[in-house]
Amino acid sequence: MIGPSDITVIGGGLVGASLALGFLRAGASVTLVDAGEDRFHASAGNFGLVWVQGKGATCPDYADLSLRSAKAWRRFAEALEDDGSTDAPLGYRNCGGVKIALGEAELNTMAANLERMHNQSGSAGNGMLLLDRDALRDRIPAVGPEAAGGTFCPHDGHADPLATLYALHRALRRAGVRVLRGKALRASVDEGARGFTIHTDTDSIACGRVVLAAGLGNPELCEPLGLRAHLRPQRGQIVVTERTARFMDPVCHTVRQTEDGTVMLGDSKEEVGFDTSTTPDVRRAILNRAVRCFPHLAKVRVMRSWGALRVMSPDGLPIYQTSDRHPGASLVTCHSGVTLAAAHAGEVASAILGDRLNDSYPAFSPARFEVAP
Ligand SMILES: Cc1cc2nc3c(=O)[nH]c(=O)nc-3n(C[C@H](O)[C@H](O)[C@H](O)COP(=O)(O)OP(=O)(O)OC[C@H]3O[C@@H](n4cnc5c(N)ncnc54)[C@H](O)[C@@H]3O)c2cc1C
Repeated sequence: MIGPSDITVIGGGLVGASLALGFLRAGASVTLVDAGEDRFHASAGNFGLVWVQGKGATCPDYADLSLRSAKAWRRFAEALEDDGSTDAPLGYRNCGGVKIALGEAELNTMAANLERMHNQSGSAGNGMLLLDRDALRDRIPAVGPEAAGGTFCPHDGHADPLATLYALHRALRRAGVRVLRGKALRASVDEGARGFTIHTDTDSIACGRVVLAAGLGNPELCEPLGLRAHLRPQRGQIVVTERTARFMDPVCHTVRQTEDGTVMLGDSKEEVGFDTSTTPDVRRAILNRAVRCFPHLAKVRVMRSWGALRVMSPDGLPIYQTSDRHPGASLVTCHSGVTLAAAHAGEVASAILGDRLNDSYPAFSPARFEVAP
């Protein structure tokens, strides 16, 4: 049995590692358990956007949380860089984000969506603008003739997700957090002691609180803790090119030029279960759209591609829950773990420690998926 800590976080992806950092900074002793190399690891296969626009089109609370997190990202990144937790910078840039409309029909749909979001309380403050053809060209001269306009949000940006994940883990280790490699098989409730024991394939860990942040591994762990994770995998394929001269300052939601000049293209949304393979048809579609947006990319070589699985709830919103039955147990999961990393390390970690998670985020309760009998 590994001695008690205040809190054990299960899952060391972007969500679990960000939360663990938040708990640590609040003075809690933390143990992090992670199953290690996992082919379903979304944090290592994502696109790297810190993205606000369009988020919460049907849920103002999500729009607001995404905006608060994006605004907190610079401080979050600087704190990791300043304390020496990373050799490489996190590459965070708040450069604004553009969604490019190819043709008038797409532009009309974007205009209608934007109007709906502006009419919806809570999201009007995200600063989104509709760009006509000329305004788009002013912001990104490299767009092709098919680009009819788009939308722009000044709060959008991007970061290197792998550098972020490594920096988080390094910060945790440097601060003495126990990071255990192992698969959590079960969490049991210590009724008398008002705590929990986490049983992994190698150890047992005692703790006062437990937080499930295991991505697609959450559903298996929920039941004994009185938590509910309605999740499914959704595949996204990403294509990466060779380095090329810088051609865009705002980032686009399907085209992102990284700090080193490579271009990431993506990303598909496919309901294929636990299958991370790449397919020629999807790759072709990704390349085709990218070249219609930026014709010069037709001459740039593709270097690699991969598939990764989103951690997706039925409505795409986060699920945050503290158990009614066992109030020391909580669940945190979302499909925008890069965007929300700063919030997870800040306000969400504080809400868990302050026993305010359910009250602070009622819109993210799993009760929304449960139909009354
Ligand atoms: C193609 C693609 C593009 C994306 N683009 C973006 C983007 O641009 N911006 C954005 O904000 N988000 C994006 N995302 C989403 C983002 O990557 C995820 O929201 C985030 O990585 C989820 O992190 P996580 O920690 O919940 O899950 P994961 O990264 O999957 O990590 C879960 C961890 O839990 C561990 N684990 C699982 N089961 C157990 C167990 N029983 N015991 C112990 N450990 C366990 C796993 O080993 C893993 O390390 C994208 C995702 C994909 C797939």
